[in-house]
Amino acid sequence: MSPRLRIAPSPTGEPHVGTAYTALFNILLARKLGGEMILRIEDTDQSRSTPDSERKVMEALNWLGLNWTEGPDKGGAYGPYRQSERRDIYAPYVEELLDNGHAFKCFCSRERLETMRKAQQAKGQQPKYDGHCLSLTAEEVRAKEAEGEVPVVRMKIPTNGACAFEDGIYGAVSIPWDTIDMQVILKADGMPTYHLANVVDDHLMKITHVARGEEWLSSVPKHILLYQYFGWQAPQFIHLPLLRNLDRSKLSKRRNPTSISYFSTAGYLPEALVNFLGLGFVSIAEGEELMTLDELSNRFELSALSKAGAVFDLQKLDWLNGRWIREKLGAQDFAARMHEWSDINNRLLGGLALAQARCVKLSDVPMLIAFLLSDKLDLTREHFAATKTGVEESLAILEAVAPTVETLGEWDKTAIEAEIRRISDETGRKIRIMVAPLYLAITGSTKSLPLFDSMELLGRSMVRQRLRHSIALLKG
Ligand code: GLU
Repeated sequence: MSPRLRIAPSPTGEPHVGTAYTALFNILLARKLGGEMILRIEDTDQSRSTPDSERKVMEALNWLGLNWTEGPDKGGAYGPYRQSERRDIYAPYVEELLDNGHAFKCFCSRERLETMRKAQQAKGQQPKYDGHCLSLTAEEVRAKEAEGEVPVVRMKIPTNGACAFEDGIYGAVSIPWDTIDMQVILKADGMPTYHLANVVDDHLMKITHVARGEEWLSSVPKHILLYQYFGWQAPQFIHLPLLRNLDRSKLSKRRNPTSISYFSTAGYLPEALVNFLGLGFVSIAEGEELMTLDELSNRFELSALSKAGAVFDLQKLDWLNGRWIREKLGAQDFAARMHEWSDINNRLLGGLALAQARCVKLSDVPMLIAFLLSDKLDLTREHFAATKTGVEESLAILEAVAPTVETLGEWDKTAIEAEIRRISDETGRKIRIMVAPLYLAITGSTKSLPLFDSMELLGRSMVRQRLRHSIALLKG
């Protein structure tokens, strides 16, 4: 069987550097094995998946030059490559599991499950389905369905022993079955859950190696069991240790930038980001760090990966990025990159359009739009202290607005303004008071280009960074 690998991002939120890290690993491994990597969009969670996020994931991976050979945009022999379009494919597999007694229908109400969970937690146990519906007879099931009750389907889990398997990085792993939940595989709305869709698709798409984040290691027993229930050969599993902060805590957007669009907006080169992420996959000597994707793939070694996880060291990224700009780009290429970069979110042309109404001489313009093309702003706590709003109130306002960056569906000025007005009503502050510290945090000045337009042009990920930076300043 020819090696086939895949990345299977869920299109929720902004594309994360972890997705790029996993994609890069898959590409390097695919090249090493002489196989290919495909893209599958895992959007079975319809409440969290958005087309905008799917578009952004693809844009981000394309920007990084991490290419797939089959996918929703490219087609291929094993499509569709978007799980929401594969709904009918999964149904017979659920039926098969039910018919063979490997799965059962569960009618437990949300309330019952909640009470059960609380009772287990109170006893210090890990919450897990208690098997209440396992013993329903076929007649009882029929009667409930005839009354209009809609069940979910859960998979059965062995009660004794452990699931033992070999992971490409973690080696021999053994996970006791009694720690594994009777996972819901089909939801009441007829959509499969991640676990079922993932296994069925990996099988149908002839995936030979599943390389993904370490957070999925504990799900492997459920997946292996599904492969066994269907009588299929499981792929080889390889779980990648997480990217970590310098203090080894899990990389999170509350502490560090994690969105790929932040790195593109801040002016990192895609080659430098790929180079940086790829250093965890090669064994090289000091002085050999500057590497292209091809060089990374020539030096790729599974054994170079540390189980402790790669450290996401922004200083090192800066160092590499500077070297890429200075040592690898010709003058013309550099100018072309500047042009391309200023075009991200239309910041240059959009900024010029806003500046035109506010300048006397053309030479006023660079200062007016500088904040749109900068990364961190030169702000101090004193800037906020000097405003009428003061430090405490500014902090309260920025903290009230910060969640908007995560929750707003569309990132455009109309939506941003509506949300900030809503928060201003809700917290009983005049809009004039609300926007003052926002101006400062976003534009670096108390008088600048219009705030909501500027937030749209800067983009979600840069606004997140600016708010975070000012909140940290204000907290001292
Ligand atoms: N949809 C999962 C994610 O976004 C993919 C996990 C897997 O590769 O199996 O993390």
